[in-house]
Amino acid sequence: MQSFSMLINGELVQGNRPLEVINPATEEVFQRVTCADEGQFEQAIAAAKAAFPQWQKTDMQTRKDCLLKLADALEQRTQEFAEILTQEQGKPLAESTAEVGFSCAFIRYFAQSELPVETYQDDATAKVELHRKPLGVVAGVVPWNFPLMIGSFKLAPAVLTGNTFILKPPASTPLCVLKLSEICQQIFPKGVVNIITDNNDLGHILSSHPDVNKVAFTGSTPTGKKIMAASANTLKRLTLELGGNDAGIVLPDVDPKKVAPAIFATAFMNCGQVCIALKRLYVHEDIYDAVVNELSALANSAVVGNGLDEGVTFGPIQNKAQFSKVQEYLADAKENGVIAAGGEVLNGPGFFMRPTIVCDITDGCKVVDEEPFGPILPVIKYKTIDEAVERANNSVFGLGGSVWSNDLDKAYEVAKRLECGTTWINQHLAFGPTVPFGGSKESGIGVEFAQEGLLEYTQVHVINMAKQTF
Ligand code: NAD
Repeated sequence: MQSFSMLINGELVQGNRPLEVINPATEEVFQRVTCADEGQFEQAIAAAKAAFPQWQKTDMQTRKDCLLKLADALEQRTQEFAEILTQEQGKPLAESTAEVGFSCAFIRYFAQSELPVETYQDDATAKVELHRKPLGVVAGVVPWNFPLMIGSFKLAPAVLTGNTFILKPPASTPLCVLKLSEICQQIFPKGVVNIITDNNDLGHILSSHPDVNKVAFTGSTPTGKKIMAASANTLKRLTLELGGNDAGIVLPDVDPKKVAPAIFATAFMNCGQVCIALKRLYVHEDIYDAVVNELSALANSAVVGNGLDEGVTFGPIQNKAQFSKVQEYLADAKENGVIAAGGEVLNGPGFFMRPTIVCDITDGCKVVDEEPFGPILPVIKYKTIDEAVERANNSVFGLGGSVWSNDLDKAYEVAKRLECGTTWINQHLAFGPTVPFGGSKESGIGVEFAQEGLLEYTQVHVINMAKQTF
């Protein structure tokens, strides 16, 4: 067993409650750690509140230097973090290594950001400026699919803009985030960054607490709604990155053999447990059978196994509850469609399921209309582009979407009609720190990344000076 600690007020501390972390590839306990009780949540909030007055006055360059040191220290420990991530989350080691790299890249991006004062008027009568101030205490609440990366891309803009921060990972994947405590303790003044974990039962303290000024949340839509309701009393600022059921529309002019690998990769990355994975595929009837066949061949060639093993391309589903949920979607797929590839849950131990392609299925059943968040892709036949767009938009979600065609002008016109935060053309799931990202409809509120995302961690402060004297 390795050692993992929370970080409260600059101290590495153990929680007052036990927490077991299961390796989803073996179903065995990987690490026995501890998590916070209500009193420790209160301590973390109080520490962040106490640290805020000084941190907001700390000059921008010092804050940037702290972030650069964080990225450097994390990068130096890439192998250690990646191995922990694979064993708590399940993804193959190469994907865990990439997640550590992405975390560093996001931190470094925000470390070079600026918050310039904008001048709206400057003439003989008046000078009007818009300044950006920090909000106070920000809580970052993250899900189990990319806990380190999502935690990093909330921590960095929060502290860069002068807020103090509390990071809370989920109970099934707390370890990489807890490991980050050791690095943050060495870099940030006490109370500026606090890291606490729970048993998925105390997040409501953060969203209802009067001393927390913003919640930056990534997770499911039902939890997002609870956070919004709990935050209403104190009018907290919120960024909500929630669930999605991204549709891809394939036009008849593409070569099925060439397009299938790109589609497969974006539908099944991290075992399909990606908010912006392609989750419903609408294919024109002319090439429907060929696309199904190509996707099925790719699914059949996937190597499913323990993410630490060489050559494995598919890890397990992250936790038992999600594994059971995905099996319900699989049953629904079998009832309403035809399994073209996969469709099997492997004999344990481990929460393994082969990547599954479902054909001869249409809208109106659970596996198409909801978010399975697992390795299962329904492929739906369409006749006209208007019909495909209407069906793609007929969802409470609106996170991402994509159009696949060799006619880029045509694809662009279709892309503009989709109701989502991001529409990709001839790709899906492409994201990074320089491009704003957010959901429409019930997929979220607000944006992350780029300057737009940074500004969500700030409060507008206008200074309006009349150039007259009395
Ligand atoms: P979840 O909503 O169950 O949990 C996310 C986090 O919220 C966890 O840390 C959990 O402990 C915490 N939490 C639970 N109840 C809370 C409450 N009442 N108040 C405050 N915090 C609370 O989500 P999950 O199952 O961990 O993640 C899967 C979901 O996340 C999927 O729907 C997926 O699409 C979504 N997701 C969205 C994005 C995005 O950027 N839009 C990214 C990744 C995942």
